[in-house]
Amino acid sequence: MKYIIIGGVAGGATAAAKIRREDEHAEIIMFERGEYISYANCGLPYYIGGKIEKREDLIVQGITTFSNRYDIDVRTLNEITSIDTSTKKVTVRNVQNGKIYFESYDKLLLSPGAMPFKPSLPGIDDPRILTVRTIPDTDKIKSLTEKTKKGKAVIVGGGFIGLEMAENLKALGFMVTIVEMIPQVMTQLDPVMASIVHNELRENGVELILGEAVMAFHPTSEKLYVQLKSGREISADLVILSIGVKAETSLAREAGLKIGITGGIEVNDYLQTSNKDIYATGDAVEIINPITGDPSLTPLAGPANKQARIAATNLVHGNICRYKGSIGTGIAKIFRITAAVTGVNEKTLNKKGIKFISTITHSGSHAGYYPGSESLSIKILYSPKNGKLFGGQVVGYGGVDKRIDIIATIIGQNGTVYDLMEIEHAYAPPFSSAKDPVNMAGFVADNVINGKVKIVTWDIINNFDFGNDYLLDVRSPEECKQGMIKGAVNIPLEELRLRLDEIPSDKRIIVYCAIGMRGYLASRILLQNGYGNTYNLTGGYKTYLFAHKDQEIMTKLGDTKNKS
Ligand code: FAD
Repeated sequence: MKYIIIGGVAGGATAAAKIRREDEHAEIIMFERGEYISYANCGLPYYIGGKIEKREDLIVQGITTFSNRYDIDVRTLNEITSIDTSTKKVTVRNVQNGKIYFESYDKLLLSPGAMPFKPSLPGIDDPRILTVRTIPDTDKIKSLTEKTKKGKAVIVGGGFIGLEMAENLKALGFMVTIVEMIPQVMTQLDPVMASIVHNELRENGVELILGEAVMAFHPTSEKLYVQLKSGREISADLVILSIGVKAETSLAREAGLKIGITGGIEVNDYLQTSNKDIYATGDAVEIINPITGDPSLTPLAGPANKQARIAATNLVHGNICRYKGSIGTGIAKIFRITAAVTGVNEKTLNKKGIKFISTITHSGSHAGYYPGSESLSIKILYSPKNGKLFGGQVVGYGGVDKRIDIIATIIGQNGTVYDLMEIEHAYAPPFSSAKDPVNMAGFVADNVINGKVKIVTWDIINNFDFGNDYLLDVRSPEECKQGMIKGAVNIPLEELRLRLDEIPSDKRIIVYCAIGMRGYLASRILLQNGYGNTYNLTGGYKTYLFAHKDQEIMTKLGDTKNKS
């Protein structure tokens, strides 16, 4: 059997190695148009910033080692220019000498990845505007950063890669501005969780320009000027364009393979394309999101690698392995914090018309009495009917990865908030608390679903009506001195039972504390004393503060923008 693999990095190299493990006698040729195979594109931002010191460390497997270990004919700098499905032949162009030749196949795997999106804006072809996808891209950025030394960088796009680049360019001493078209970074996060990330970026000296589109680039010999929709111009020595990727589907399209509605290559559960002898994996394919049932693109390394293993098995043995789809679990380090997501967010649930409740909990990353415990914020989204988990978002300093992985595992198994409550975790003070933050998230959700407490989200405060609403702060007077929500009345939790007569019985009562816990206790007292119209502010003052501060900064910046 003769297999041809197109693309030699995440999906391609993984599939090639797996095919060999499954079929010792197969002929396998892996084509890669670039110079390198099996390299760590996820590590590129850290090489630019110097965290990964040696360029060679980016190469996970060298060509010779890979080729010898798996007996694979690796052809780098060879690009497939077309696939003829009727004769089962591919056309190959040798990138170095331009020579064209043909190669036949019995079975073919496409893992051509994605291309960074590059809009056709005036000035976009200036050599100081760069994307981060490959090692050669990285070399260009590295050489520009070395030339401009501690200059000014503008990052267009506030996604995972943009944020990683912001941190790494800061590490090199650059002044960094992020320009993002929507009013938040990391679009997978809900705005309230993104506000924590905004705070971290600002605290680390990154200028955030949100809700602003780039209209043009004006190059001069000295600097490049980035022109924004508001009319503002920012000077830059270097621009990183990271506004997303586009599935690389030209070969598939021209070969007559079906392309899905998202623009990715359509595959079935076995990762087989519309042609029975061609399978496809990675950033280029459209897969099903099992939560919404919708086709989606998930350009992430984990899904690409797992799909490659499944596709390779099916290529060799026939369709015996199903791919269950991806729920889009991702994580990024942004200076000192880590932000992670899994499943779907509010925007998607609203768009799909799926009813949900969301709650926010703030816990310590491990037991508070053991040194080094730091804040960990979890937002979960779930069905009000049966507690089915739709999504989770975790932002914090330590232990974010473990919590998002737990939530992802439960979502992946169609689990509920009740499963979160029951997770049996490994506990000792340096690692967690007897009730882990994910258990806490489950407990709170259980209380909400089962009517033990009613909640409101922080943004309700914007539409607060003091004629009908009573805002009750149950923190201590010392805590209140550090700041309160405007118009709130302070009755510490410990005094509440004695001061019930101060609370109006004809108003909606919104209770809050620092993080939601005492607010819950106060809500229980009030609900059982006849105050049925009582709500707890989910995530407490902490959530309000992050989100409100963020909103204030943005409003202020918006005003300045309009005046300038
Ligand atoms: P790729 O790994 O991109 O491989 C595709 C290869 O196919 C390319 O090398 C291309 O040259 C080759 N090719 C295309 N067309 C042809 C052709 N016609 N002929 C021959 N060769 C061809 N994901 C995460 O989950 N976590 C992260 O932290 C993360 N960080 C990232 C950071 C950066 C800077 C980048 C760029 C990506 C990151 N990703 C991350 C995404 C992850 O790298 C991709 O999802 C994954 O590499 C996709 O695998 P793939 O096989 O589909 O494509």
